[in-house]
Amino acid sequence: MSYKAEYIWIDGTEPTAKLRSKTKILADGAEPGVWGFDGSSTNQAQGHSSDRVLKPVATYPDPIRGGANLLVLCEVFDIDGTPHSSNTRALLRPVAERFEGQESLFGIEQEYTFFQGSRPLGFPEAGYPAPQGGYYCGVGADEIFGREIVEKHLDNCLAAGLGISGINAEVMPGQWEFQVGPLSPLEVADQLWVARWLLYRTAEEFGVSATLDPKPAKGDWNGAGAHTNFSTKAMREGYDAIVEACEALGRDDKPMEHIKNYGSGVEARLTGAHETAPWSEYSYGVSDRGASVRIPWQVEVDKKGYIEDRRPNANVDPYVVTRLIVGTCCSALEK
Ligand code: ADP
Ligand code: MN
Ligand code: MN
Ligand code: MN
Ligand code: MN
Repeated sequence: MSYKAEYIWIDGTEPTAKLRSKTKILADGAEPGVWGFDGSSTNQAQGHSSDRVLKPVATYPDPIRGGANLLVLCEVFDIDGTPHSSNTRALLRPVAERFEGQESLFGIEQEYTFFQGSRPLGFPEAGYPAPQGGYYCGVGADEIFGREIVEKHLDNCLAAGLGISGINAEVMPGQWEFQVGPLSPLEVADQLWVARWLLYRTAEEFGVSATLDPKPAKGDWNGAGAHTNFSTKAMREGYDAIVEACEALGRDDKPMEHIKNYGSGVEARLTGAHETAPWSEYSYGVSDRGASVRIPWQVEVDKKGYIEDRRPNANVDPYVVTRLIVGTCCSALEK
């Protein structure tokens, strides 16, 4: 007997990487081993020397195929064993390890938009739907578009054993959110990538695509972000560490370093309107959805908990945002 292993990796498309996958048949009980692919077809190699290596780093039960079948998340390497330049997970590993003692946790809110053809799901063939107001956490066929896909995606994430913690309808028709975490930096980033793959794969069966485009509809419509909630053990135990983490994110050249790496098109989304802070000005505040970083009101009451970095775009690479936040905040907190 045999089973199917779906090898999933992140490609080299710029400015925003895409997910790729292919299937390997393995003998019952056999561990998924290293495999290869044609990097010239994924923006990861030139044609004359195009072999790239897939190294499994995490496996999950495959909720699409069921049974003993697996999803196999991989890192990409060159044949000489160096991480490929597109392999941002390899850059996160040493940073996560260096600050492991601070026990960082992340919860990422992934916003996304369904499209059918060239329009967001729920947008009429001509013109626009009723303006924003009723769609966020709405109910009813006049406000909700794609719930059957969202429910199926949630079930698939749970069946894959992902630490998905919730879903909600968003401010624009066809726009939704799911949250992954709280989990360690590597776990949250791995699982967010797998949850994204499951989103595309689930929606495919409905003839619908999903996009992480940060500004999928022009005009007076909310963009799509990936609010990144973060805590360390010290932040979960006291308020001084909460304030220090917020301060550290605003110190020296940190705001620009973070913004530059928070997803493609971040300036187009962080305009200062639609519940965002302008990308060029760092700010933090309690309960403030117009700040770069928000301290939730309950955290201020309890004097401990976590902070929310509201800047990352929906299309951010979770290996990058977690690496930057751990690097900036944990360095400051260890002093
Ligand atoms: P919002 O009110 O901004 O919409 P959500 O409920 O969508 O917030 O998302 C909050 C996220 O923060 C969830 O993924 C949750 O698991 C995560 N979270 C909760 N506590 C912590 C913590 N101590 N550290 C990191 N993340 C946390
Ligand atoms: Mn071939
Ligand atoms: Mn949310
Ligand atoms: Mn949201
Ligand atoms: Mn949020």
